[in-house]
Amino acid sequence: MSQDLLHRFSFRTAPIRGQWVRLDGVLDEMLLRQDYPSAVRVLLAEMMAAVSLMADGIKFKGAVALQSRGSGPVTTALAECRDQKLLRGIARWEGKIPEGHTQEAPAERPTIHYGELADLIGEGRMAITLTPTREKARDNEGGAPNLNSYQGVVSLESGSLAANLEAYFANSEQLPTRLFFAFSRNTITGLLLQRLPTPDNATEVEREHQDVLWQEIDILASTLRPGELAELPVETLLRRLFHEHPLTLQPGRALSFSCTCSRERAERMLQALPKEEILELLETQGMVDVTCEVCGARYEYDRLHTHLIYEPGEPPIH
Ligand SMILES: [Zn+2]
Repeated sequence: MSQDLLHRFSFRTAPIRGQWVRLDGVLDEMLLRQDYPSAVRVLLAEMMAAVSLMADGIKFKGAVALQSRGSGPVTTALAECRDQKLLRGIARWEGKIPEGHTQEAPAERPTIHYGELADLIGEGRMAITLTPTREKARDNEGGAPNLNSYQGVVSLESGSLAANLEAYFANSEQLPTRLFFAFSRNTITGLLLQRLPTPDNATEVEREHQDVLWQEIDILASTLRPGELAELPVETLLRRLFHEHPLTLQPGRALSFSCTCSRERAERMLQALPKEEILELLETQGMVDVTCEVCGARYEYDRLHTHLIYEPGEPPIH
């Protein structure tokens, strides 16, 4: 059974919030469109979990995307979360991809990791893009449309996506953050912990107290093993890690795989191409196909279909 769910939680006695996400049906959908080497699958799964977690924390309605560009065998990887619940993603690679590493601990579910991020992406970076949707942006601006998207750059200096994103949040957003991912049996689980900004009017004592609380939570979180994260239900996991710190867990929110591409859109794209080009493709390949660049879905058109696109209502002439 698919369980694509995100839970938000907050510590009742500390200014720290968290999110937990588990995706499996979304990953199955992704693999229907494109088969990936195991290491690429894990990377893309982590990126999907990351955008789900980031999208949950933003105030506007829109899309959060994470895209890599590098000199390594994975030339690009993209994950996007729209409206906090619709996910899509794709990766492209060239040449040989190093095998994913299996990590095993006694009595725990084995997890797969891609090893070093640099082995996949090479010299590179990731862009985080936040794109507000049209209507909402207009509401927020009181009539003035503001469609500006925000772009942040994640430098890839550490071996894992989690460590690089932690550094991004700490440096670019000034939000101390811990992030964990575990991939097992084609399921990704992600956990994010973030310290909320201390109010400006907080006293020195309050500030210090909050520092101590964050350090405590950070140390407890560091004991988390990938096998536990991959396997345990969220309630059990949080109880096991933070049993001395009361927290409130929100009900889960469902996520699903969804792309904005469609057969109709692909047809409109074909219509915009020179007819001779289509005829040549039909001649050489027997059909024309359009592959979506953000989810990998393939739309195929044979001679009859392409004829109908160009001259709807008329029978094909052979
Ligand atoms: Zn698509």
